[in-house]
Amino acid sequence: MGNSTFRFLLLALLALPVLQASAPASSRAFVAENIAPPVALHVSQELQGLDAELERLKHEDLQELLDFVAGNTLFTLYHEAGHMLISELELPVLGQEEDAVDNLATVTMLGADTEDMDLLLSHAMIGWFLIASENYEDLVFYSEHDLDQQRGYQMLCLMVGADEAAFADLARDLELPEERLETCGFDYEQSADSWEIVTAPYLREDGERGNRIRVRHGPPGPGQASMALFLKESELMEIVAEELDDLYKLPEQVTFKAEVCGEENAFWDPSQREMTLCYELMTGFADIYLDLLTLRN
Ligand SMILES: [Zn+2]
Repeated sequence: MGNSTFRFLLLALLALPVLQASAPASSRAFVAENIAPPVALHVSQELQGLDAELERLKHEDLQELLDFVAGNTLFTLYHEAGHMLISELELPVLGQEEDAVDNLATVTMLGADTEDMDLLLSHAMIGWFLIASENYEDLVFYSEHDLDQQRGYQMLCLMVGADEAAFADLARDLELPEERLETCGFDYEQSADSWEIVTAPYLREDGERGNRIRVRHGPPGPGQASMALFLKESELMEIVAEELDDLYKLPEQVTFKAEVCGEENAFWDPSQREMTLCYELMTGFADIYLDLLTLRN
């Protein structure tokens, strides 16, 4: 498949139903309507850069773009949260840590088992193929990682392994070979079980809040106001922080923060006990989707 044909395919696959604000809350901590607009992307300062481009988008296109940003941001947050758990709980890691936390992020999002979360996960998975097809080399939040496309296929395999009915078509469209497909159920069980076993001793059983994770939203830079606002209104960081706080007994206070970094990145800093999500990473996801919209319109 040629590169542009492939990008058209990805675009078609992304024509997924958008999240509905009226979607019923899942039984888990995750509440999907937090993510669904209406998000008032009107910012007070003069619009520039990405903010100005988003202002010009049709409502449906903006909605799709925000779903894409939400899915990829959420996956990134769970990925970084995995690094945090490994370092704070001193978990053993067999194999590459990057692969382990990618798997955790996928398995966690699959665990919600809602259509909305499946949609966000699909956006994140397809995001890897888009990054690969465009060589967005600035997206460096994954050092010591597999190739982007490999990461996409690994996610896809776990998704089919967990729920063949929901994701089999996606797997076929992305040409995941049949012989690989056959092992995906095992891959999923193994990843899910491994995480469950190593984290079991740290599960909170008292039903009390840990209040160990604080969330901070720093001021955005030029052109980042809408993404900063979306992060705040969708409460993506708060959702992940609360979920982990409820699940695990973290030994120390940690911080999840969003800020201007000067690069498209996200990282866990064990010495400061801080997870940083760079606004540049979110604007990078938005740019990828804007490019796709240009291709379609
Ligand atoms: Zn990582």
